[in-house]
Amino acid sequence: MAKQPRSELRRDGDRTEQVSEKIRKRLFIKTYGCQMNVYDSARMTDVLAPLGYQVVDSPRGADMVILNTCHIREKAAEKVFSELGRLRAFKQERRDQGGDMLLAVAGCVAQAEGEEILRRAPQVDIVFGPQTYHRLPEMVARAARAADGRGVLDIDFPVDSKFDHLPEEAAAPGPAAFVSVQEGCDKFCSFCVVPYTRGAEYSRPAAAVIAEARRLVAAGVREITLLGQNVNAYHGEAPGGTPNGTGGGTWGLGRLIRALAEIDGLERLRYTTSHPRDMDDELIAAHGEEEKLMPYLHLPVQSGSDRILAAMNRRHTAADYLRIVERLRQARPDLALSSDFIVGFPGESDRDFADTLKLIQDVGFAQAYSFKYSPRPGTPAAVEDSQLAEPVKAERLAGLQQLLGAQALAFNAACVGRDLPVLLERPGRKAGQLVGRSPFMQSVHVGVPEVAMARLAGRILPVRIDSAHPNSLAGSLLVDDAPQAAAGGRTMARITA
Ligand code: SAM
Ligand code: SF4
Repeated sequence: MAKQPRSELRRDGDRTEQVSEKIRKRLFIKTYGCQMNVYDSARMTDVLAPLGYQVVDSPRGADMVILNTCHIREKAAEKVFSELGRLRAFKQERRDQGGDMLLAVAGCVAQAEGEEILRRAPQVDIVFGPQTYHRLPEMVARAARAADGRGVLDIDFPVDSKFDHLPEEAAAPGPAAFVSVQEGCDKFCSFCVVPYTRGAEYSRPAAAVIAEARRLVAAGVREITLLGQNVNAYHGEAPGGTPNGTGGGTWGLGRLIRALAEIDGLERLRYTTSHPRDMDDELIAAHGEEEKLMPYLHLPVQSGSDRILAAMNRRHTAADYLRIVERLRQARPDLALSSDFIVGFPGESDRDFADTLKLIQDVGFAQAYSFKYSPRPGTPAAVEDSQLAEPVKAERLAGLQQLLGAQALAFNAACVGRDLPVLLERPGRKAGQLVGRSPFMQSVHVGVPEVAMARLAGRILPVRIDSAHPNSLAGSLLVDDAPQAAAGGRTMARITA
C-alpha cells in the first residue's frame, strides 16, 4: 500500500504552502465505549492539532479517520472490522480524487488484536493502544514514509506515562469536562478484559490533575468528572512529592477532591468508575463534607450473590457492599446511587440471581447499567464449563431491568415539584430547549426563551421539576437573574419558553 506524500513532510521548504495545507486536514474520530475513550479521543485531537488536523463530523473526505474502540462488549472486534470495510470505500474515493485517507485503529480492540488488524484489514495504516497515543505525530510520519505498505503498530505499555508527553488540552469542550486521573486496573475480575488492554494501575500526580482542572475552569468549565477505570484506587504523587511516592507521599481520591474543590469557579465535582473495595474513609467523608462533590455515585456491584462475587474475583461480598452504601448514606443522606450488573455469569443459579434482585431492592438505585455476561477471550470466566444458555441470560436481564427501571422512574418521580440546580449544558432536540444535569446526574430538559439560549447555556440555575420520565426530567427555569435579555425586563418567578 503506497502512501501519498503529506504536505507537512515535504522538503520544498515553502512555509506558506505548508501552513495553508495544514489548515485543510480533516480528522474524523469515531469513539466507542466508555467516558475514558471520550477523554482519550479529545486528547488525540489535541496531539494532532499542531499537525493541522481539525475535527470534522463525517469520515467521508477526511484526511485521517481514527476508530477509538472498546473491547468490553461481545463481537467488538467484528464490529470494528465491518466498520473498516465501509471506510475502505471512502479511502479509495480519496485516492481517486488524488488524495489519501490515513486510517487508524485505536483503543482496546487495537491493544487486544494488534497485528491481526493489519493482517485482516490492509487498508489500515496505524494501530495503536490506549497508552501510546501521545506518539501519534511520529506514527503519522512513519505511516506516510512506509513505502512497503506495512502499517504502523504501536501497542506498547511504555514505562513513561503518556500523560508526561501530552500537550495541554486545546479547548474546553463546554461547561462540563472530564479529567483522567487514573488508568488501568490490577484487580483482574474474571470476566473483564480491562487489565489486559489498559495495563497496570497508574495514577497521575495530583499537581498535574490540579493544573489541568485550573486550565479547564479558566476556559469556562463549571463541572469536572474525574475519570479512571478504577478511579477510587487513585494514589497519585502528592504535590511536592517524588515520583516513587516518598517525600510528599501520595494522595487518595478523597484528598484530591478536597484540593480540587478549592478551585474558585469550579462548582461541581464527580468521579467514575469506582470499585467497592477502594471506598476508603477519606472518600466517604468527602461525600459528607465537600459540597461541590455531587450527591451521585456510580458504584458497580455486578452481582448480589456471594458465590458469584467470589467467582468473579470481586473480593467483596454483598454485605460489604451494603455496609459501604450505609456509610455513604450516613455521610450524605440524599446520595443517588448507580451501579453495573452482570447477569448470567457462568454458574449463576436461580438462587444467585434472586440474591441480585434482593440486593437491588435493599439498596434502591437511582439508575443502573446491566449486561448479559459475554465471554471475553483471554479472561478466566470465558473458559468456565458452566456457561449459561442465551435465553436464560435474556430472561434474567429483562427481569433485572424491569426492577431497575421501576426504581429509576420512582427516583425521578420523587423529584417532581422540587427545585433543583441544573447545569445547563447544551441545546436540546427541540427549539427553545436546553439540556442540563441535576446534582443527581439526571438529564433535565428545560424550556427557555429562544433569545436567551446562548446567555443561559453554561450556567447553573434553579429549575422547577414538572415531569419525570424513565431516563430524564423536564422542568422550567425559576429565576433569570439578568432579566433584561429575555424576560421583558421582569425577574420572573418561573420562565417558560
Ligand atoms: N472498573 C469498573 C468496576 O470494577 O466496576 C468497571 C469497568 S468495565 C469497563 C464497565 C462494566 O462493563 C463493568 O462494570 C461490567 O458490568 C461490564 N462488563 C465488563 N466485562 C463484561 C463482560 N465480560 N460481560 C458483560 N459485562 C461486562
Ligand atoms: Fe474490569 Fe473494573 Fe474488575 Fe478492573 S475492577 S477488572 S476494570 S471490572
